[in-house]
Amino acid sequence: MLIRNATLPDGRRGQDVLMQQGRIAAVDAGLAAPQGAEVIDAQGWLLSPPFVDAHFHMDATLSYGLPRVNASGTLLEGIALWGELKPQLTQDALMQRALQYCDWAVAKGLLAIRSHVDVCDDRLLAVEALLEVKRRVQPYLDLQLVAFPQDGLLRSPTALANLKRALDLGVDVVGGIPHFERTMADGADSVKLLCELAAERGLPVDMHCDESDDPLSRHIETLAFHTQRLKLHGRVTGSHLTSMHSMDNYYVSKLIPLVAEAGVHAVANPLINITLQGRHDSYPKRRGMTRVPELMAAGINVAFGHDCVMDPWYSLGCGDMLEVAAMGLHVAQMTSQAGMRACYDAVTTNAAKVLGLAGYGLAPGCHADFVLLQARDPIEAIRLRAARLLVVRRGTVIARSPAAAAELRLPGRPGSVDWTLQR
Ligand SMILES: [Zn+2]
Repeated sequence: MLIRNATLPDGRRGQDVLMQQGRIAAVDAGLAAPQGAEVIDAQGWLLSPPFVDAHFHMDATLSYGLPRVNASGTLLEGIALWGELKPQLTQDALMQRALQYCDWAVAKGLLAIRSHVDVCDDRLLAVEALLEVKRRVQPYLDLQLVAFPQDGLLRSPTALANLKRALDLGVDVVGGIPHFERTMADGADSVKLLCELAAERGLPVDMHCDESDDPLSRHIETLAFHTQRLKLHGRVTGSHLTSMHSMDNYYVSKLIPLVAEAGVHAVANPLINITLQGRHDSYPKRRGMTRVPELMAAGINVAFGHDCVMDPWYSLGCGDMLEVAAMGLHVAQMTSQAGMRACYDAVTTNAAKVLGLAGYGLAPGCHADFVLLQARDPIEAIRLRAARLLVVRRGTVIARSPAAAAELRLPGRPGSVDWTLQR
Protein backbone atom coordinates (compact mmCIF):
# COMPACT_ATOMS: atom_id res chain seq x y z
CA MET A 1 0.00 0.00 0.00
CA LEU A 2 1.14 3.54 -0.71
CA ILE A 3 -0.28 6.55 1.12
CA ARG A 4 0.23 9.72 -0.91
CA ASN A 5 0.43 13.37 0.12
CA ALA A 6 0.34 13.13 3.92
CA THR A 7 1.44 15.69 6.49
CA LEU A 8 3.51 14.19 9.31
CA PRO A 9 3.42 15.25 12.99
CA ASP A 10 6.87 16.87 12.64
CA GLY A 11 5.47 19.24 10.00
CA ARG A 12 6.80 17.60 6.82
CA ARG A 13 4.21 17.99 4.06
CA GLY A 14 3.53 16.16 0.81
CA GLN A 15 4.98 12.90 2.13
CA ASP A 16 4.33 9.46 0.66
CA VAL A 17 4.55 6.36 2.82
CA LEU A 18 5.23 3.01 1.23
CA MET A 19 4.34 -0.14 3.17
CA GLN A 20 5.54 -3.64 2.50
CA GLN A 21 4.82 -6.80 4.51
CA GLY A 22 3.32 -4.86 7.39
CA ARG A 23 6.32 -2.52 7.76
CA ILE A 24 7.17 0.96 6.56
CA ALA A 25 9.48 0.58 3.55
CA ALA A 26 10.03 4.27 2.72
CA VAL A 27 8.87 7.78 3.65
CA ASP A 28 9.58 10.53 1.13
CA ALA A 29 8.03 12.88 -1.41
CA GLY A 30 7.15 11.51 -4.84
CA LEU A 31 7.62 7.77 -4.23
CA ALA A 32 6.74 5.49 -7.15
CA ALA A 33 3.87 3.07 -6.52
CA PRO A 34 4.96 -0.54 -7.06
CA GLN A 35 2.81 -2.45 -9.53
CA GLY A 36 -0.46 -3.61 -8.03
CA ALA A 37 -0.08 -1.48 -4.89
CA GLU A 38 -3.20 0.05 -3.38
CA VAL A 39 -2.76 3.85 -3.47
CA ILE A 40 -4.57 6.07 -0.96
CA ASP A 41 -4.61 9.86 -1.31
CA ALA A 42 -4.24 11.43 2.15
CA GLN A 43 -5.16 14.87 0.71
CA GLY A 44 -2.64 16.59 2.94
CA TRP A 45 -4.20 15.36 6.20
CA LEU A 46 -2.12 14.41 9.24
CA LEU A 47 -0.70 10.89 9.22
CA SER A 48 0.33 9.97 12.74
CA PRO A 49 1.57 6.90 14.52
CA PRO A 50 -1.43 5.43 16.40
CA PHE A 51 -2.56 6.62 19.80
CA VAL A 52 -1.25 4.76 22.84
CA ASP A 53 -2.97 4.70 26.23
CA ALA A 54 -0.35 4.33 28.98
CA HIS A 55 -2.86 3.73 31.79
CA PHE A 56 -6.25 2.04 31.71
CA HIS A 57 -8.53 -0.33 33.66
CA MET A 58 -10.08 -2.72 31.18
CA ASP A 59 -11.52 -5.05 33.82
CA ALA A 60 -13.86 -2.29 35.04
CA THR A 61 -14.64 -0.55 31.76
CA LEU A 62 -18.23 -0.13 30.51
CA SER A 63 -19.61 -1.29 33.87
CA TYR A 64 -21.10 2.12 34.71
CA GLY A 65 -24.20 1.74 36.91
CA LEU A 66 -23.35 -1.83 38.01
CA PRO A 67 -24.52 -2.44 40.68
CA ARG A 68 -25.15 1.29 41.30
CA VAL A 69 -23.58 4.63 40.38
CA ASN A 70 -20.90 6.42 42.41
CA ALA A 71 -22.94 9.06 44.24
CA SER A 72 -20.10 11.05 45.83
CA GLY A 73 -17.83 10.78 42.78
CA THR A 74 -14.80 10.14 45.00
CA LEU A 75 -11.93 7.69 44.50
CA LEU A 76 -12.76 5.91 47.75
CA GLU A 77 -16.45 5.38 46.90
CA GLY A 78 -15.29 4.13 43.49
CA ILE A 79 -13.01 1.56 45.15
CA ALA A 80 -15.85 0.51 47.50
CA LEU A 81 -18.24 0.22 44.55
CA TRP A 82 -15.76 -1.90 42.60
CA GLY A 83 -15.56 -4.13 45.71
CA GLU A 84 -19.37 -4.58 45.53
CA LEU A 85 -19.24 -5.37 41.82
CA LYS A 86 -16.32 -7.82 41.93
CA PRO A 87 -18.21 -10.82 43.43
CA GLN A 88 -20.90 -10.39 40.74
CA LEU A 89 -18.49 -10.36 37.78
CA THR A 90 -18.61 -13.17 35.28
CA GLN A 91 -15.77 -13.94 32.94
CA ASP A 92 -18.06 -13.81 29.94
CA ALA A 93 -19.57 -10.38 30.72
CA LEU A 94 -16.15 -8.95 31.53
CA MET A 95 -14.71 -10.19 28.24
CA GLN A 96 -17.66 -8.85 26.24
CA ARG A 97 -17.21 -5.38 27.78
CA ALA A 98 -13.45 -5.41 27.23
CA LEU A 99 -13.83 -6.52 23.60
CA GLN A 100 -16.44 -3.83 23.01
CA TYR A 101 -14.04 -1.25 24.41
CA CYS A 102 -11.25 -2.53 22.14
CA ASP A 103 -13.59 -1.95 19.16
CA TRP A 104 -14.13 1.63 20.32
CA ALA A 105 -10.37 2.05 20.73
CA VAL A 106 -9.57 0.79 17.23
CA ALA A 107 -12.20 3.11 15.73
CA LYS A 108 -10.45 6.01 17.49
CA GLY A 109 -6.97 4.99 16.25
CA LEU A 110 -5.91 3.75 19.70
CA LEU A 111 -3.88 0.63 18.96
CA ALA A 112 -1.91 0.00 22.16
CA ILE A 113 -3.20 0.02 25.74
CA ARG A 114 -1.54 -0.72 29.07
CA SER A 115 -4.33 -1.96 31.33
CA HIS A 116 -4.11 -2.64 35.03
CA VAL A 117 -6.00 -5.75 36.13
CA ASP A 118 -7.14 -6.23 39.71
CA VAL A 119 -5.54 -9.32 41.28
CA CYS A 120 -7.37 -9.02 44.65
CA ASP A 121 -9.91 -11.70 43.76
CA ASP A 122 -8.79 -15.19 44.67
CA ARG A 123 -10.47 -16.57 41.54
CA LEU A 124 -8.29 -14.29 39.32
CA LEU A 125 -11.33 -14.12 37.09
CA ALA A 126 -10.45 -10.74 35.57
CA VAL A 127 -6.84 -11.82 34.99
CA GLU A 128 -7.93 -14.90 33.05
CA ALA A 129 -10.54 -12.94 31.10
CA LEU A 130 -8.13 -10.16 30.09
CA LEU A 131 -5.38 -12.63 29.14
CA GLU A 132 -7.91 -14.18 26.75
CA VAL A 133 -8.92 -10.71 25.47
CA LYS A 134 -5.24 -9.90 24.94
CA ARG A 135 -4.85 -13.04 22.83
CA ARG A 136 -7.97 -12.28 20.77
CA VAL A 137 -7.21 -8.62 20.02
CA GLN A 138 -3.51 -9.20 19.32
CA PRO A 139 -3.88 -8.97 15.51
CA TYR A 140 -5.15 -5.40 15.80
CA LEU A 141 -4.33 -4.01 19.25
CA ASP A 142 -1.37 -4.39 21.65
CA LEU A 143 -2.78 -4.98 25.12
CA GLN A 144 -0.28 -4.98 27.97
CA LEU A 145 -1.44 -6.10 31.42
CA VAL A 146 -0.31 -4.92 34.87
CA ALA A 147 -0.92 -7.06 37.98
CA PHE A 148 -2.66 -4.50 40.17
CA PRO A 149 -3.38 -5.20 43.87
CA GLN A 150 -6.34 -2.79 44.14
CA ASP A 151 -7.03 -3.58 47.83
CA GLY A 152 -3.38 -3.09 48.83
CA LEU A 153 -0.49 -5.55 48.50
CA LEU A 154 0.03 -5.81 52.28
CA ARG A 155 -3.47 -4.71 53.34
CA SER A 156 -5.22 -7.54 51.52
CA PRO A 157 -4.18 -10.95 52.94
CA THR A 158 -3.98 -12.84 49.63
CA ALA A 159 -2.82 -10.02 47.34
CA LEU A 160 0.87 -10.93 47.15
CA ALA A 161 0.21 -14.61 46.41
CA ASN A 162 -2.42 -13.65 43.82
CA LEU A 163 -0.11 -11.11 42.20
CA LYS A 164 2.60 -13.75 41.79
CA ARG A 165 0.05 -16.20 40.34
CA ALA A 166 -1.06 -13.52 37.87
CA LEU A 167 2.56 -13.00 36.77
CA ASP A 168 2.95 -16.79 36.41
CA LEU A 169 -0.09 -16.79 34.11
CA GLY A 170 1.59 -14.25 31.81
CA VAL A 171 0.66 -10.79 33.08
CA ASP A 172 3.38 -8.47 31.79
CA VAL A 173 4.00 -5.80 34.45
CA VAL A 174 4.22 -5.58 38.28
CA GLY A 175 1.71 -3.10 39.75
CA GLY A 176 1.15 -1.58 43.19
CA ILE A 177 -0.80 0.99 45.20
CA PRO A 178 1.42 2.14 48.09
CA HIS A 179 -0.80 5.07 49.16
CA PHE A 180 -3.67 2.64 49.85
CA GLU A 181 -1.67 0.49 52.32
CA ARG A 182 -2.52 0.96 56.01
CA THR A 183 0.50 3.12 56.86
CA MET A 184 3.17 5.12 55.06
CA ALA A 185 5.68 2.49 56.29
CA ASP A 186 3.63 -0.34 54.74
CA GLY A 187 3.39 1.68 51.54
CA ALA A 188 7.18 2.01 51.41
CA ASP A 189 7.59 -1.72 52.17
CA SER A 190 5.21 -2.59 49.33
CA VAL A 191 7.25 -0.50 46.88
CA LYS A 192 10.48 -2.24 47.94
CA LEU A 193 8.96 -5.70 47.75
CA LEU A 194 7.36 -5.13 44.34
CA CYS A 195 10.50 -3.62 42.81
CA GLU A 196 12.53 -6.60 44.06
CA LEU A 197 9.96 -8.99 42.60
CA ALA A 198 10.17 -7.18 39.23
CA ALA A 199 13.98 -7.26 39.31
CA GLU A 200 13.95 -11.01 40.05
CA ARG A 201 11.57 -11.73 37.19
CA GLY A 202 12.99 -9.21 34.73
CA LEU A 203 9.66 -7.39 34.45
CA PRO A 204 8.67 -3.71 34.25
CA VAL A 205 6.94 -1.92 37.14
CA ASP A 206 3.95 0.44 36.95
CA MET A 207 2.48 1.62 40.24
CA HIS A 208 -0.48 3.74 41.12
CA CYS A 209 1.57 6.10 43.23
CA ASP A 210 0.46 8.88 45.56
CA GLU A 211 -3.01 9.27 44.04
CA SER A 212 -4.14 11.66 46.74
CA ASP A 213 -3.99 15.33 47.72
CA ASP A 214 -1.79 14.54 50.72
CA PRO A 215 1.44 16.53 50.27
CA LEU A 216 3.22 14.04 52.54
CA SER A 217 2.42 11.05 50.34
CA ARG A 218 5.96 10.56 49.01
CA HIS A 219 6.05 7.02 47.67
CA ILE A 220 7.41 8.32 44.35
CA GLU A 221 10.64 9.11 46.22
CA THR A 222 10.81 5.48 47.42
CA LEU A 223 9.98 4.22 43.93
CA ALA A 224 12.80 6.29 42.41
CA PHE A 225 15.18 5.07 45.15
CA HIS A 226 14.52 1.36 44.56
CA THR A 227 14.61 1.86 40.79
CA GLN A 228 18.08 3.29 41.23
CA ARG A 229 19.18 0.62 43.75
CA LEU A 230 18.00 -2.31 41.63
CA LYS A 231 19.15 -0.76 38.34
CA LEU A 232 15.66 -0.80 36.85
CA HIS A 233 16.23 2.43 34.87
CA GLY A 234 13.70 2.89 32.07
CA ARG A 235 11.53 -0.03 33.24
CA VAL A 236 9.61 1.73 36.01
CA THR A 237 6.54 3.98 35.81
CA GLY A 238 4.87 6.10 38.48
CA SER A 239 1.19 6.57 37.61
CA HIS A 240 -0.97 9.47 38.82
CA LEU A 241 1.60 11.13 41.19
CA THR A 242 -1.12 13.63 42.14
CA SER A 243 0.23 14.38 45.62
CA MET A 244 3.10 16.15 43.83
CA HIS A 245 0.57 18.87 42.96
CA SER A 246 0.22 19.68 46.67
CA MET A 247 3.81 19.14 47.79
CA ASP A 248 6.09 21.83 49.12
CA ASN A 249 8.04 23.45 46.25
CA TYR A 250 11.39 23.07 47.98
CA TYR A 251 10.87 19.33 48.43
CA VAL A 252 9.79 18.97 44.78
CA SER A 253 12.95 20.78 43.65
CA LYS A 254 14.90 17.86 45.12
CA LEU A 255 12.44 15.13 44.13
CA ILE A 256 12.11 15.77 40.38
CA PRO A 257 15.87 15.43 39.67
CA LEU A 258 15.85 12.13 41.61
CA VAL A 259 12.99 10.83 39.43
CA ALA A 260 14.87 11.96 36.32
CA GLU A 261 18.10 10.34 37.49
CA ALA A 262 16.29 7.01 38.05
CA GLY A 263 14.74 7.16 34.57
CA VAL A 264 11.24 6.65 36.00
CA HIS A 265 8.41 7.39 33.55
CA ALA A 266 5.46 9.46 34.78
CA VAL A 267 1.84 8.96 33.72
CA ALA A 268 -0.81 11.60 34.41
CA ASN A 269 -4.50 10.80 34.01
CA PRO A 270 -6.04 14.22 33.43
CA LEU A 271 -9.71 13.31 32.91
CA ILE A 272 -9.84 11.31 36.10
CA ASN A 273 -7.66 13.38 38.37
CA ILE A 274 -9.35 16.68 37.54
CA THR A 275 -12.61 15.08 38.70
CA LEU A 276 -11.30 13.04 41.66
CA GLN A 277 -8.75 15.35 43.28
CA GLY A 278 -9.44 18.35 45.47
CA ARG A 279 -12.66 16.76 46.74
CA HIS A 280 -11.87 17.64 50.35
CA ASP A 281 -11.14 21.26 49.45
CA SER A 282 -13.64 24.08 49.69
CA TYR A 283 -12.11 27.06 47.83
CA PRO A 284 -9.54 27.49 46.47
CA LYS A 285 -9.89 23.99 45.06
CA ARG A 286 -6.72 22.22 43.92
CA ARG A 287 -6.57 20.72 40.42
CA GLY A 288 -4.59 17.74 41.66
CA MET A 289 -2.91 16.68 38.42
CA THR A 290 0.83 16.03 38.77
CA ARG A 291 3.37 18.67 37.66
CA VAL A 292 3.46 17.74 33.98
CA PRO A 293 5.44 20.66 32.43
CA GLU A 294 7.99 20.63 35.26
CA LEU A 295 8.53 16.86 34.91
CA MET A 296 8.92 17.25 31.13
CA ALA A 297 11.34 20.14 31.55
CA ALA A 298 13.52 17.88 33.73
CA GLY A 299 13.75 15.37 30.87
CA ILE A 300 11.32 12.85 32.40
CA ASN A 301 9.19 10.92 29.93
CA VAL A 302 5.57 11.91 30.68
CA ALA A 303 2.56 10.22 29.10
CA PHE A 304 -1.19 10.69 29.59
CA GLY A 305 -3.60 7.85 30.30
CA HIS A 306 -7.37 7.59 29.90
CA ASP A 307 -7.54 5.52 33.13
CA CYS A 308 -11.30 4.96 33.09
CA VAL A 309 -14.25 4.86 30.70
CA MET A 310 -17.77 4.38 32.08
CA ASP A 311 -16.82 2.58 35.29
CA PRO A 312 -17.15 3.07 39.08
CA TRP A 313 -14.76 6.05 38.94
CA TYR A 314 -15.76 7.84 35.75
CA SER A 315 -19.04 7.93 33.87
CA LEU A 316 -17.83 9.41 30.57
CA GLY A 317 -15.26 8.77 27.81
CA CYS A 318 -15.13 6.81 24.55
CA GLY A 319 -11.50 5.78 24.02
CA ASP A 320 -10.54 9.10 22.42
CA MET A 321 -6.95 9.94 23.39
CA LEU A 322 -7.36 13.41 21.82
CA GLU A 323 -9.92 14.16 24.54
CA VAL A 324 -7.33 13.03 27.11
CA ALA A 325 -4.66 15.25 25.51
CA ALA A 326 -7.06 18.22 25.45
CA MET A 327 -7.87 17.86 29.15
CA GLY A 328 -4.19 17.47 30.06
CA LEU A 329 -3.37 20.60 28.07
CA HIS A 330 -6.04 22.63 29.88
CA VAL A 331 -5.34 21.38 33.40
CA ALA A 332 -1.56 21.86 33.01
CA GLN A 333 -2.08 25.20 31.19
CA MET A 334 0.24 23.97 28.42
CA THR A 335 -1.08 26.47 25.89
CA SER A 336 2.15 27.40 24.06
CA GLN A 337 2.73 25.81 20.64
CA ALA A 338 5.44 23.61 22.17
CA GLY A 339 3.21 22.77 25.14
CA MET A 340 0.30 21.70 22.94
CA ARG A 341 2.58 19.54 20.80
CA ALA A 342 4.00 17.98 23.96
CA CYS A 343 0.44 17.01 24.96
CA TYR A 344 0.05 15.26 21.60
CA ASP A 345 3.33 13.40 22.23
CA ALA A 346 1.97 12.37 25.66
CA VAL A 347 -0.71 10.23 23.95
CA THR A 348 1.53 8.93 21.15
CA THR A 349 5.34 8.66 21.29
CA ASN A 350 5.81 9.20 25.04
CA ALA A 351 3.14 6.62 25.86
CA ALA A 352 4.78 4.17 23.44
CA LYS A 353 8.02 4.61 25.44
CA VAL A 354 6.19 3.79 28.68
CA LEU A 355 4.91 0.55 27.14
CA GLY A 356 8.31 -0.16 25.59
CA LEU A 357 6.65 -0.76 22.20
CA ALA A 358 9.11 -2.05 19.59
CA GLY A 359 8.73 -0.80 16.01
CA TYR A 360 6.57 2.20 16.90
CA GLY A 361 6.89 5.34 14.77
CA LEU A 362 7.11 6.62 11.23
CA ALA A 363 10.67 5.61 10.31
CA PRO A 364 11.43 2.96 7.68
CA GLY A 365 11.43 -0.44 9.39
CA CYS A 366 8.69 0.48 11.89
CA HIS A 367 5.35 -1.32 11.88
CA ALA A 368 2.96 0.09 9.27
CA ASP A 369 0.51 1.28 11.94
CA PHE A 370 -1.13 4.71 11.49
CA VAL A 371 -4.08 6.91 12.04
CA LEU A 372 -5.01 9.46 9.36
CA LEU A 373 -6.60 12.45 11.07
CA GLN A 374 -8.78 15.13 9.53
CA ALA A 375 -6.40 17.83 10.75
CA ARG A 376 -3.35 19.65 9.37
CA ASP A 377 -1.17 19.28 12.47
CA PRO A 378 -1.23 17.79 15.99
CA ILE A 379 -2.57 21.00 17.56
CA GLU A 380 -5.52 21.09 15.17
CA ALA A 381 -6.08 17.39 15.88
CA ILE A 382 -6.43 18.17 19.61
CA ARG A 383 -8.61 21.24 18.98
CA LEU A 384 -11.06 19.31 16.81
CA ARG A 385 -10.81 15.82 18.35
CA ALA A 386 -10.25 15.23 14.63
CA ALA A 387 -12.08 12.50 12.73
CA ARG A 388 -10.09 9.29 12.25
CA LEU A 389 -10.39 9.06 8.47
CA LEU A 390 -8.38 5.82 8.36
CA VAL A 391 -6.81 3.50 10.89
CA VAL A 392 -4.09 1.19 9.55
CA ARG A 393 -2.54 -1.80 11.31
CA ARG A 394 0.40 -3.67 9.78
CA GLY A 395 -0.35 -2.14 6.39
CA THR A 396 -4.09 -2.97 6.34
CA VAL A 397 -6.98 -0.55 6.81
CA ILE A 398 -8.90 -1.71 9.90
CA ALA A 399 -11.26 1.25 10.48
CA ARG A 400 -12.63 4.23 8.58
CA SER A 401 -14.71 7.23 9.62
CA PRO A 402 -16.37 9.88 7.45
CA ALA A 403 -14.93 13.39 7.52
CA ALA A 404 -16.64 15.70 10.00
CA ALA A 405 -18.62 18.31 8.08
CA ALA A 406 -21.95 20.06 8.25
CA GLU A 407 -24.19 21.27 5.46
CA LEU A 408 -25.24 24.86 6.01
CA ARG A 409 -28.69 26.11 5.06
CA LEU A 410 -28.26 29.82 5.68
CA PRO A 411 -30.39 32.27 3.70
CA GLY A 412 -28.42 33.30 0.62
CA ARG A 413 -25.28 31.47 1.83
CA PRO A 414 -25.56 27.79 1.05
CA GLY A 415 -22.42 25.75 1.67
CA SER A 416 -20.72 23.52 4.14
CA VAL A 417 -18.32 23.87 7.03
CA ASP A 418 -15.57 21.48 8.17
CA TRP A 419 -13.82 23.44 10.98
CA THR A 420 -10.29 23.06 9.56
CA LEU A 421 -8.22 25.95 8.26
CA GLN A 422 -7.08 25.73 4.66
CA ARG A 423 -3.49 26.93 4.90
ZN1 LIG B 1 -5.56 3.68 37.47
